[in-house]
Amino acid sequence: IPRKRFGQNFLTDDLVLSQIIRAIHPQPGQTMVEIGPGLAAMTRLLLADLDHLHVVELDRDLVARLKKNFPAEKLTVHEGDALAFDFSGISVPAGQKLRVVGNLPYNISSPLLFHLAEFAHLVEDQHFMLQKEVVERMVAEPGSKTYGRLSVMLQVRYHMELMFIVPPEAFDPPPRVESAIVRMIPKPGAFPCDIKKLEEVVTKAFSQRRKVVRNCVAGLLTEADLLACGVDPQGRPETLSLEAYVAMANLLSAR
Ligand code: SAM
Repeated sequence: IPRKRFGQNFLTDDLVLSQIIRAIHPQPGQTMVEIGPGLAAMTRLLLADLDHLHVVELDRDLVARLKKNFPAEKLTVHEGDALAFDFSGISVPAGQKLRVVGNLPYNISSPLLFHLAEFAHLVEDQHFMLQKEVVERMVAEPGSKTYGRLSVMLQVRYHMELMFIVPPEAFDPPPRVESAIVRMIPKPGAFPCDIKKLEEVVTKAFSQRRKVVRNCVAGLLTEADLLACGVDPQGRPETLSLEAYVAMANLLSAR
């Protein structure tokens, strides 16, 4: 029986499942971790191609079931909260990086994405099923209605792509919202700015919709600061590029 508090909506549509596996394209020898395997609909298909898979599952009953149904040589089951999971603890062969996948519990998607961001340097790519509206915010461009804090804070670390939409009927029980598969690939190299400073600027900028940038960031950056960053003080926060936010964060770091 699915548990609502664990955000359990199990994928049952075979066509959608094979579409997801095709997008992930698992290969023998790769090191992969699946978050929230549930009844193992994806797990089983991933293991058809992989030699071995790690899973992180919170529900004790599902953990017992997974351990019963899969041999330990094929599946390592980590019982616990993905939000507290140390992804650096999974050993990866030299020259390889970790691949992360999952049909995520939607109630924790945002904190989980930020928890995973801490491990971005160890990660090859991430494929997630998320609420469609969240994926739209993640991939949004400046000037679009959904562009905001989530877009900037994730786009600074990842290339992201909405792969395809998944309708509620693909799940049991069907969620109340549409879903989408997103591909996230960590950007190479060091971050272009201090993430904490970026967070500070972005949170302020998007805290008051319909205000001009100068008023939103007042107390943090002056009009002269904004001009030095190439930002129009009278512009709207939701029209500023990632580069503009990075420039503002770097100016904050410089003093
Ligand atoms: N992957 C399965 C599928 O596609 O049918 C299940 C997806 S279901 C939306 C989410 C899964 O994540 C459930 O199995 C749930 O028990 C598990 N889960 C919920 N919260 C979790 C957490 N904090 N850490 C790890 N797993 C969690």
